[in-house]
Amino acid sequence: MPLYAYDFHIHSCLSPCGDELMTPPNIVNMAYVKGLDIIAVTDHNSARNVRAAIKSAESIPITVVPGIEVTTAEEIHVVCLFPDADSAEMAGAKIEGSLPQIKNRPEFFGEQIIMDENETVKGAFPFLLPNACGISIDELPKIVESFGGVCFPAHIDRQSNSVLSVFGYLPDKPEFTALEVQEPEKFFKDEANEHYRLSYEILTSSDAHRLVEISEREHFIELEEPTFNELKRVLSRNRRELLNFYQ
Ligand SMILES: [Zn+2]
Ligand SMILES: [Zn+2]
Repeated sequence: MPLYAYDFHIHSCLSPCGDELMTPPNIVNMAYVKGLDIIAVTDHNSARNVRAAIKSAESIPITVVPGIEVTTAEEIHVVCLFPDADSAEMAGAKIEGSLPQIKNRPEFFGEQIIMDENETVKGAFPFLLPNACGISIDELPKIVESFGGVCFPAHIDRQSNSVLSVFGYLPDKPEFTALEVQEPEKFFKDEANEHYRLSYEILTSSDAHRLVEISEREHFIELEEPTFNELKRVLSRNRRELLNFYQ
């Protein structure tokens, strides 16, 4: 199967911590220049810039998967990927709707800019997006699946906002099949973590907030073709295989 260079965790200027140069077309162009084949735009708790990113890629040979990095009620970050802009926006509306109505203060946290594929500013999201939403980590996978999506815990090796930092372990339920590890060399040096590599699809993405941070052509995934459906199949694979094994 062919290998595709990916980066499935990129923030746009909609995330308050995202650089203002992280416009949807800039992200797509930079990812293309860096030689990536498939990327995901994953802002905190919102999908309002994913349609612009997909449109920006219409004439460029790169696949843009719409995504959201959800902050669950437990403050755990989970990357959620969706089949198309419609499903991502519908899921995004549900997640946004469960956010506490705490106003963003751009002077402290940064702007949350919504824009189109021509970099025309369409507005600013009023409430602070990275806050914990009202959806728990137990509920989230079912909700994502109801919109046709797939999700996996983000940067599990980070000391904050990760499933391991919050729980101290990876719970059996909900049953994830993929995990994002930011520094796999360091993480897997610890033998106690080796079992994750055997049981999960391990992904390493940039979590870029600035253009320069977008991954180089350095992380690859085996896919029949660079499409969301194929990606979902691969990211869901371990669960199916394990189920067959135990039946
Ligand atoms: Zn995060
Ligand atoms: Zn992130």
